[in-house]
Amino acid sequence: MRLLLATRNAGKLRELGPMLRAAGFDPLTLDDLGIALDPEEDSVESFETFEENAMAKARYYFARAASLGADAPPLVLADDSGLEVRALGGAPGVKSKRYSGSTLEGQPLDDANNSKLMDALRGVTDRRAGYVCVAAIKTAGGEWHARGACGGAILESPRGDDGFGYDPFFYSEELGKTFGEATREEKEFVSHRARAVGAVLERFRSEK
Ligand code: IMP
Repeated sequence: MRLLLATRNAGKLRELGPMLRAAGFDPLTLDDLGIALDPEEDSVESFETFEENAMAKARYYFARAASLGADAPPLVLADDSGLEVRALGGAPGVKSKRYSGSTLEGQPLDDANNSKLMDALRGVTDRRAGYVCVAAIKTAGGEWHARGACGGAILESPRGDDGFGYDPFFYSEELGKTFGEATREEKEFVSHRARAVGAVLERFRSEK
């Protein structure tokens, strides 16, 4: 089944593409379908919960894809995710993408966020943290969402340069290494995103 993988985040695309193909879908990106970047996209995810943001993105891109008519994939998958740091009261949480206030994208955005995180945690000994992801599916017939999580701690210096975002600083307790040091397959084994997507696909398949 053709599926619109509704994200412009290169790191998420790298992780989700193989996962969805392995689950028997034919994932297409926004670029594949010519759904152009619109400045309003960031404001779609301005709610206070991962659930509301993920569902809002799935609905928004479902509506954008509808303009393709018969070429529109029947299913849209979106996710909203973030890092929750215990000593920061769960911040940056749903604000993880724009934690630093930077309006950049890609590596410069990740660098600014990581630098703000290091400042916020300077001298803090409780470094426990977790990633959270909510994956959402929208079709013409219904909507589904599911949450996934994984636990660990924030290191004082980065390790590895795989992954994206906060990954070089996020030490996974299940892997015994940072997500920056993990291969894509290792990260998929334990990650918040793999767990959320696995769960939402299961719901979709059993309830559709
Ligand atoms: P959003 O889901 O597009 O709002 O972005 C979530 C943000 O949380 C990303 O831009 C990253 O900063 C962070 N994040 C979410 N998942 C991950 C991950 O798997 N690795 C590293 N950073 C992540």
